Amino acid sequence: MGLPTWPFSHPTNPTNPINPINPTNSLASFMSMGFVSISYQILYFPTIPTGLTQVKVTLLPKSYATTKKGGERMFCYQCEQTAKGEGCTKIGVCGKQPDVASLQDLLLYCVKGLSQVAAEGWKLGVWDDEANVFTCEALFSTLTNVNFDPDRFPPLINKAVELRDRLKEKITKAGGKSEFAQGPANFVPKATKEEMIAQGEKVGFLSDADEDPDVRSLKHTLIFGCRGIAAYADHAQILGKADPEVYRFLHEAMATTLKKDLTLQEAVDWVLRCGKVNLRTMELLDDAHTSTYGHPVPTKVPLGHKKGKAILVSGHDLKDLEELLKQTEDKGIYIYTHGEMLPAHGYPGLKRYSHFYGHYGTAWQNQQKEFAEFPGAILMTTNCIQKPKENYEKNIFTSGLVGWPQVQHIKDRNFEPVIKRALEMDGYPEDQEGKYVMVGFARNTILSVADKVIEAVKSGRIRHFFLVAGCDGAKPGRNYYTRFVELVPEDCVVLTLACGKFRFFDKDLGTIGDLPRLMDMGQCNDAYSAIQVAVALAQAFQTDVNSLPLSLILSWYEQKAVAILLTLLALGIKNIRLGPSLPAFITPNVLNLLVQQYNIKPISTPEEDLKSILG
Ligand code: SF4
Repeated sequence: MGLPTWPFSHPTNPTNPINPINPTNSLASFMSMGFVSISYQILYFPTIPTGLTQVKVTLLPKSYATTKKGGERMFCYQCEQTAKGEGCTKIGVCGKQPDVASLQDLLLYCVKGLSQVAAEGWKLGVWDDEANVFTCEALFSTLTNVNFDPDRFPPLINKAVELRDRLKEKITKAGGKSEFAQGPANFVPKATKEEMIAQGEKVGFLSDADEDPDVRSLKHTLIFGCRGIAAYADHAQILGKADPEVYRFLHEAMATTLKKDLTLQEAVDWVLRCGKVNLRTMELLDDAHTSTYGHPVPTKVPLGHKKGKAILVSGHDLKDLEELLKQTEDKGIYIYTHGEMLPAHGYPGLKRYSHFYGHYGTAWQNQQKEFAEFPGAILMTTNCIQKPKENYEKNIFTSGLVGWPQVQHIKDRNFEPVIKRALEMDGYPEDQEGKYVMVGFARNTILSVADKVIEAVKSGRIRHFFLVAGCDGAKPGRNYYTRFVELVPEDCVVLTLACGKFRFFDKDLGTIGDLPRLMDMGQCNDAYSAIQVAVALAQAFQTDVNSLPLSLILSWYEQKAVAILLTLLALGIKNIRLGPSLPAFITPNVLNLLVQQYNIKPISTPEEDLKSILG
């Protein structure tokens, strides 16, 4: 498909806004629902337009964007729960402390320096495998709810610089350019953590405050999308799947965010390229999962428990889970999944372990209550950790890129400490039957019954498909998704993936013929599966995805969701309903582009949205 052109005027010479506003009527519906975070200086836009007076306006001091004076100690606005819908400035709503925010900003800056060099190297066919893998690990470490441990960042910062300089030498030997007039390619980090924190304060997301706000918005979108790609690429690489072109894109994209002369059109192009590369990355991850563990098959997962010792595994990393299953065989310990690990039960290569029993709890944001009540050890693989409460901090362990200060970190997948803790704990005193849920409706399962699905649509037994998917979170507005699924008529099918499903995952929606009305396609990491099903159905009906009886009702929270959204846009998919709120890093002009080009809509009420979709 062709890339969209930029059809809108944008502010010139804005006076240092975070999100300067150039509202148009097409934005009114977002604004009237409080979907647009408007943070600008009144000098820039002195008159609030008629009809938009209900919009909450936050005036930021001019100094805010450059010096963080006035009590602000950090600035992060990468996720959906960002403070006041604008940005976390004192402490992250997620629990991220200002020192960690600064160290993450410095790490990103150093990765950009590494990428400046790597992008030059690629022109000569010179690259460094370790630097490529490291870049993904570093970017993944800055994703929401991954690494909160300040001590883990200085080694990463130093490593970025070491790999950068090693790559410079390789490029010099190959006759290429390894001198850079400016930018982080020349940056030298200080020796101590405290000094690095001070350096990080100067290179955060507000350090480019004098830049065109719409270009900056798109650059930040590109950075957050690349963080999502990095997460998927890291998971795929762990299972032996990688594509040099993904690494090349990440380096080129990171280097591009340093360009001062990037035009709006170029910035739009980069963001859509990010979506396309993310599709390739998700394909790699799908290949990694299915070639290692087989294609998921429909599987009944108990929500009850077995008498005996127990370990709970949360997060997304199937390799961690597999290694733990191997190391706990014949130890009298049952393994339970939590959160995004639920779909792991559908993989033949994992479900073959007889002590891999059931699922416990719901989505990540409920972990503090649920982990406290779990009578065994807990392993948090990537991502989404929250501050451990005192009543379970001795029971929880992290692995991979996840970190929390004082929480024991497992290196090299030696889970002995986790097993030891599980054996010390009480475990469950008796069997308890509970409900069951079904998983395993990934692309292979659904497409194996494609003829039945097509026949059901043609005969009118299936009127519409809803993909109700995305992240869960703590905001009360997310009850929308529960109510939406409850109201979906009986001649419609709900496909779901990612942790947003915990709003309705144990509901019995019955069947249409042999087909369940609620089908779990997997983790957020399995969004590729949903895209493949949509593309295959479009081919079968000889139409395009936008013409299918399919609606996307999405919820977002962190940066993997940003990458997936960019993929959907890059594929030209329209009419997405997105909630519970829109990203704070999107300016009104960029939002205008999304509305005009892709007809993205905010969720309204389940009743209104269903009526509007089904008529
Ligand atoms: Fe705030 Fe989200 Fe950033 Fe955490 S990740 S500091 S909650 S914007």
